[in-house]
Amino acid sequence: MSSSTHAFVAKPQQARLPYPYRPEVDVVEAALATLAGQLDWTQVIRAGRPWVEAVREKPAPFWAMESLLREYPISSAEGLALMRLAEALLRVPDVETAIALTADQLGRAEFDADSVVEGPHKMLAGISASAISLSKKFLPDADGEGGLLKRLGAKTVVAATVRAIQLLGRQFVLGRTIAEAMDEAQDQRKDVESTRRGAGSAASGLRFSYDMLGEGARTEHDAERYLASYANAIKAIARGQVAASPQTADGISIKLSALFSRYEDAQRERVFAELLPRVWRLVELAAGANLNLTIDAEETDRLELSLDVLDALAERIAAAFPQWQGFGLAVQAYQTRALQVVDAVADIARRHKLRFMVRLVKGAYWDGEIKRAQEGGLAGYPVFTHKEHTDISYLACARALIAHADVIYPQFATHNAGTIAAILQMARTQGAAFEMQRLHGMGEGIYREVMKDPAVPCRVYAPVGEHRDLLAYLVRRLLENGANSSFVHQLADSSVDAERLLASPMTTARPAAFPMPAYLYPVDHGLQRRNSSGVDLAVLAERAPLDAAVAAASVPGIAEAGKEEVDAAMTKLDAGFEAWNERPVDQRAAIIRRAGDLLDARLAEFCGLLVREAHKTPGDCVAEVREAVDFCRYYADQAQIRLRDQTLPGPTGESNELRMNGRGVFVCISPWNFPLAIFAGQVVAALVAGNTVAAKPAEQTPAVAARMVALLHEAGVPADALALLHGPGETVGAALTAHPATAGVCFTGSTQVAKIIQRTLAAKDGPIVPFIAETGGLNAMIVDSSALPEQVVDAVVQSAFRSAGQRCSALRLLVVHASIADGVIAMIRGALAELNVGDPARLSTDVGPVIDDEAYTNVSRNVARLKKDAKLLGETPLASNFPRLVTPVAFELARIADLKEEIFGPVLHVVRWNGDVDAVMREINALGYGLTLGIQTRIDSRAQRLARLAKVGNVYVNRNMIGAVVGVQPFGGEGLSGTGPKAGGPHYLFRFCAEQTLTVNTAAAGGNAALLAGESGGH
Ligand SMILES: Cc1cc2nc3c(=O)[nH]c(=O)nc-3n(C[C@H](O)[C@H](O)[C@H](O)COP(=O)(O)OP(=O)(O)OC[C@H]3O[C@@H](n4cnc5c(N)ncnc54)[C@H](O)[C@@H]3O)c2cc1C
Repeated sequence: MSSSTHAFVAKPQQARLPYPYRPEVDVVEAALATLAGQLDWTQVIRAGRPWVEAVREKPAPFWAMESLLREYPISSAEGLALMRLAEALLRVPDVETAIALTADQLGRAEFDADSVVEGPHKMLAGISASAISLSKKFLPDADGEGGLLKRLGAKTVVAATVRAIQLLGRQFVLGRTIAEAMDEAQDQRKDVESTRRGAGSAASGLRFSYDMLGEGARTEHDAERYLASYANAIKAIARGQVAASPQTADGISIKLSALFSRYEDAQRERVFAELLPRVWRLVELAAGANLNLTIDAEETDRLELSLDVLDALAERIAAAFPQWQGFGLAVQAYQTRALQVVDAVADIARRHKLRFMVRLVKGAYWDGEIKRAQEGGLAGYPVFTHKEHTDISYLACARALIAHADVIYPQFATHNAGTIAAILQMARTQGAAFEMQRLHGMGEGIYREVMKDPAVPCRVYAPVGEHRDLLAYLVRRLLENGANSSFVHQLADSSVDAERLLASPMTTARPAAFPMPAYLYPVDHGLQRRNSSGVDLAVLAERAPLDAAVAAASVPGIAEAGKEEVDAAMTKLDAGFEAWNERPVDQRAAIIRRAGDLLDARLAEFCGLLVREAHKTPGDCVAEVREAVDFCRYYADQAQIRLRDQTLPGPTGESNELRMNGRGVFVCISPWNFPLAIFAGQVVAALVAGNTVAAKPAEQTPAVAARMVALLHEAGVPADALALLHGPGETVGAALTAHPATAGVCFTGSTQVAKIIQRTLAAKDGPIVPFIAETGGLNAMIVDSSALPEQVVDAVVQSAFRSAGQRCSALRLLVVHASIADGVIAMIRGALAELNVGDPARLSTDVGPVIDDEAYTNVSRNVARLKKDAKLLGETPLASNFPRLVTPVAFELARIADLKEEIFGPVLHVVRWNGDVDAVMREINALGYGLTLGIQTRIDSRAQRLARLAKVGNVYVNRNMIGAVVGVQPFGGEGLSGTGPKAGGPHYLFRFCAEQTLTVNTAAAGGNAALLAGESGGH
């Protein structure tokens, strides 16, 4: 049996790498130590300066793009408009949207063609800027009517802008097909040969690594398409050359995320079972042809997984192709673990007696990594935060790669002249075999100079594909060319002299450039609110305590309260009110903040309980605990900022003060879908405002609530200020709301129950008590044809199906433009097929069960009805017999108005729209709910206008529409969706307060002493 017929089986994750979030200074100092005495930077400058000067003296034609970006840097309105257009315009299928998009983006920019066209070789810049500035004269206002002539003119300018952007894009793509690209490669080789001695492709020193454009498969169909395209390319490359060795021959670069839609750490088993056989097919082809196959490096959360993948493939290669030296991967120097990655790769090669080709890059996802760390509340940043640190790490990794020359052929990918000169110096001193690499369309000028030395071989990373597939890649290149910190950007800027451009990065290590994710929020009124701590589920050291807690968790039984207990509790809480309310707000806030800190420290324990009692997936549990921690800290701060006594202005001889007090006993009734976050949010808001609280959790989830109440008591909330009253809504809930001592009710749940509570309160004699209700929604997402379908599908899958659709914010209705609907629906169908439905305790589960049998029956009945009445678009296959699983499903409806009720499960409705997008928004408003809305468009003015038209509490543009963050996206809606004020917002606490003014006539006792004493009276 050939080795290729064995299945790949995932082994448990190995901890090959150190913790990613070590202090940046330490990591950089360690890297610097490995470079001591290795480099003479004076020589680096001496080598690099002539290259820089030569490039600046005779810019090549591609220079035009760089000068365009210099004229309009990404940080300017014009640069941003250019990038936005480049990202979206070419994919828009309908003229109307293309016009609206162009008008919208150009409308906010000041392009001046004249300033760019002067000077040699600036043709492209000229064309782009002229098309762009001309178009501004013709284009109607974005989404505006415009006259017929104006519209005809608009079509022409849009066509011109499209062409300008195609020209921009073409600079980065070697050909639309592999054949075209290989022809172009041959021409480029000839050009280089003419400047070098000798003949033949090897003598040119120019090699290519082809990359088939398009990234991130969302479906099996995408993955198979990419696989076929890679396989086809490898065969074509093999036919086009006789490769003596993979080092000198052309090769291919592949992205694993293109070959499998679930290339994620959490899907480790499927990665091995489904992705690896695909990669193996390509490996067999590449090894058979003896050419280089490199796996590109992607996001940090795949880093550990990528090493395990490498190891498994290497094991198979060692058996099947022991002589092949063409297998490789890219290593990103910006990772704080980069040096250890190099060692781990060398170790894998050694163990399997292989030799790898390793491409060292700095890293292309820097901004995304920083954002992910902040959003996730991670312990630090997985990448360096200073550009020089990445440069230092690059050099340290280069030294390490060279030191592993027995098992690694190093390939240095950089356009930075200083980095290149330093690498050449190190490689020469060590006598190492190596090659340099650049991207097609970048670094051409520098490499023209560098390659005058015939000893320096260079490989060009050459993207191949159609315009449509180019867009994401193009944006990354525009960002790279346009970023102030990037070498190519500064090279194009003659005000940066060569000395500065080539300056040594090897300064002293500095602490991180940004506050740690924990200190993301700015100081407000002297208070620094700490962000809740997250868990990096891709890092074993962080995940292990969570796994252990889930395994150990059990759900204790909680006794139900009877009528007497309700009465007794209310009497006690009523009696306790005065003392609690009299405590200074700083004291109450300190107790609530302490509760937040305790909870933060017990994240794993609470996650375990949430998995067991509420059947949530670990990822959802982490998010929920974090939200609860955020509520505690946020409301503690808000109380100290907003609930202090305030002095008010008035006439002289009088003092005026506004005081905020608690109201009495607040009844807090919360749902099972966020049994910790919503429960805790309501309770701590009421408490910190000075109320005592009768907390009634959902019947399904009392244990989480009980543990939170115990924690609050432990933090210092007195026994007579907070009581848990577990039991059915019809009895315990009804008794609480009807109780005479109830001074306010805070409720989250269904609209029907909110109405019942409202009527109960209205029917009561005595004071009119405030009622805060947060209820459900028929939440929609409007998608126009400028949206990126992949981004839409990611947002839809997260918003509609995560937490089994059991969020009030969940997407229920996708309204997608007819011109792209078929494609989007096909992608949703494909993505549905890839979801894992099953046991929530497993990390690989995307969708767990619904909460109880009643919910199961209810959602299933609705799904059965829709299967009869609506068009089924797609459904996740059920491959688990865990109880109460409802498979995610999507249906098409004819009209928006056909959506009648909220189905609290993983059920999506899709409607196509055409024509007037404002009318679509009005139809959505007419549904009567107003909780969340998603908008997917690249037309910024359209997004703004729709948001203004929407009678909706939370509007999200170009992202998912769940997971509102406390203090960042205060949450809550209007209409049938609730009363407000928004939870986690600055106005929430006021609703829990009774306000009192205290006016004292300070002149009563005989006269106005202050005025007579010459003080500025009046206050
Ligand atoms: C042949 C080739 C293949 C490539 N393959 C991959 C790949 O598989 N995966 C991948 O991720 N990238 C890949 N890249 C892209 C590569 O990461 C960028 O082109 C490269 O980072 C640019 O580096 P430079 O030395 O040319 O430019 P420089 O201007 O010297 O460096 C720019 C880089 O510095 C880093 N940086 C910028 N600001 C900061 C900051 N504040 N703190 C810390 N670091 C910062 C970023 O990594 C940025 O890209 C490849 C590039 C080439 C040439």
